[in-house]
Amino acid sequence: MKRSFWRRQAAVVTICGGALMLLLGAGCGTVAETGRRQFNFMSPGQEMQLGFSEFEKMKQQVPISKDPGANALVQKVGKRVAAVADLPNAQWEFVVFESKEANAFCLPGGKVGVYTGILPITKDEAGLATVIGHEVAHAVARHGGERMSVAMGLQTAGAVAGAVIGNSKYANYGPAFTQVYGVGSQLGASLPHSRMQEAEADEIGLIYMARAGYNPEAAVGFWQRFGEFNRAAGANTPWFLRTHPTDNQRVENLKALMPKAKAQFRAQ
Ligand SMILES: [Zn+2]
Repeated sequence: MKRSFWRRQAAVVTICGGALMLLLGAGCGTVAETGRRQFNFMSPGQEMQLGFSEFEKMKQQVPISKDPGANALVQKVGKRVAAVADLPNAQWEFVVFESKEANAFCLPGGKVGVYTGILPITKDEAGLATVIGHEVAHAVARHGGERMSVAMGLQTAGAVAGAVIGNSKYANYGPAFTQVYGVGSQLGASLPHSRMQEAEADEIGLIYMARAGYNPEAAVGFWQRFGEFNRAAGANTPWFLRTHPTDNQRVENLKALMPKAKAQFRAQ
């Protein structure tokens, strides 16, 4: 009895370990600028196709701004950041969407969207370069494909361990285990992982804005204004459940990266 219990325990460890090794071994790549090794099932070509089709859908569904000033600003800053970004085969496109949301994005393949709602917070060219640099950095570091790959991997590892436990006389623990695993995987892996991606996008974005000729110091001002905006909007989610680093932490990280970014800064 005892022996078969431990044999099952060993099987759980072996199978989980195997799944983990499979996860870490398969589809690894290296992130530009930071050199971090990442796990990604998707190919850059697959990501790009998804980016193109999603962007087309957005342009059909969300009204596009006709404000000539906003459009000219986004084109100008976007092109300068694109010129220094390491995104092979990109088909750059910059669109200003009419929306109150304070947001922006860059899909794989260089499809950039800026919502009019963020423009009062970016304030000037350097503020906008902070945002576009950060979003382009997410695409360069292939964070979308990485997130999907990690989520798929966690599901697989959870299913394997769940099946082993479900097979034993402790079958009643199966559903609870799956549930705990689900919660555990969210707080233990998924969210800190995305905070790591945020920090990485900040780092790469800061280098890009500096290379594009914008003073990287402006990034600190932008994130402080963005933090104030979120506080005013009532974003009082507990810090550990947020996908973004706390604003103070983010600003501290940016200040630490400033000498490295400034070394790349050439005023235009
Ligand atoms: Zn981000």
